[in-house]
Amino acid sequence: MSSDCIFCRIVAGEIPATIVYQDDQVTAFKDIQPQATVHILVIPNQHVASLNEADRLDPALLGRVLQAAATVAREAGIAESGYRLVTNTGPDSGQTVHHLHFHVLGGNPLRLPLG
Ligand code: 5GP
Ligand code: ZN
Repeated sequence: MSSDCIFCRIVAGEIPATIVYQDDQVTAFKDIQPQATVHILVIPNQHVASLNEADRLDPALLGRVLQAAATVAREAGIAESGYRLVTNTGPDSGQTVHHLHFHVLGGNPLRLPLG
């Protein structure tokens, strides 16, 4: 828990968020500025800055985050229509929050190209 990290504070319940899934390892909540009809962020409760620090996490935790992404997509009703899972890492990606997070985007046709 990093008290100056907005996502750690959401996990701790110190900042309000629309949480759609939470267990002792993973939290998922609606993005405050949605870029698709469904836009949910899925994060490990443990703080790491980005995927660059993935080696600091238990591989099983990373797996749980991906499984939670699939769960929230299914519960949001977009498993069949489709969705995109995105994690921005570092300056060129435009990462703005430095706590590893995966965007689940769907509910409408998504634009391409990615890069
Ligand atoms: P990034 O640009 O780092 O990949 O994505 C950060 C995301 O976090 C953005 O889509 C932004 O809208 C979202 N975000 C930033 N602050 C908050 C917040 O306080 N609450 C919620 N729910 N989302 C946030
Ligand atoms: Zn954090």
